[in-house]
Amino acid sequence: MMFRTRFAPSPTGPLHLGHAYSAMLAYDMATEAGGEFILRIDDLDQSRSRAEWEDLIFEDLKWLGLSWPTPVRRENDHADDYAAALDRLGAMGLTYPCRCRRKDIEAAASAPQEGVPQFGPDGRIYPGTCRTRTMEDRQSDDVIRLNMRKAVALAGSPSFTETGPIHGGNHVISGDMFDTIGDVILSRRDMAAAYHLAVVVDDAAQGITHVIRGADLFEATFIHVLLHQLLGHPTPTYHHHDLIRDEAGKRLAKRDDARAIRKYREDGLSPADVRKLVGL
Ligand code: GLU
Repeated sequence: MMFRTRFAPSPTGPLHLGHAYSAMLAYDMATEAGGEFILRIDDLDQSRSRAEWEDLIFEDLKWLGLSWPTPVRRENDHADDYAAALDRLGAMGLTYPCRCRRKDIEAAASAPQEGVPQFGPDGRIYPGTCRTRTMEDRQSDDVIRLNMRKAVALAGSPSFTETGPIHGGNHVISGDMFDTIGDVILSRRDMAAAYHLAVVVDDAAQGITHVIRGADLFEATFIHVLLHQLLGHPTPTYHHHDLIRDEAGKRLAKRDDARAIRKYREDGLSPADVRKLVGL
């Protein structure tokens, strides 16, 4: 099978050094393996996505020397694919509508049980208030959640291979996910899909064999592998790389304009200088 990887930025701000590292590492690994590097635009959040940022992503990545097949997939154009996947999970009895707002979840979590984790990769672990609701009862402003306990029981124990420097090895999906992650959101109001569902549907649709991305997404990988298994997709190999941090050790964010690739370009640095800066 041909090695195929992707870089999937959100057009919500300028790419910074951390993005450059992620994109170049994925590109280099694909090139070395004689495979393919794909660019995908994660524009699920239409309230924050802008055409200008998307144009700048193309410009920055071209300047860095990367190339990719066109047309580029934009997630917001694929609402039907995500709805079909959501329906399949619904038909398996794994989804339910949820009307809880943040303040309801905070209030329900105000008396935590000892030894039970309160936060997972998506923030506060959902206490399950709406879990007994059924999809027939779905209202237009509900989000849709995955019933994690049922999902894990149905999926068996799928595993994935991680080749990154921090968590390298084989990882098995276990029943712990109910306690450590909880019932994640698959579909949100006013969005084509929530991130976890979209990334899984897209990686399968694009035949991604290797997912190369920052270590901040390692925990979310358990959700993604579970969804791949439930939807009958092959499981990609994962590689979570170290994050590029500022001098104080803080991970870079889109608002760190000082480290925007555009800024380095304007300051007269070369792509080779940027490679050196990120240790490639
Ligand atoms: N759009 C996501 C991000 O920028 C991509 C995550 C992924 O690679 O799965 O964090």
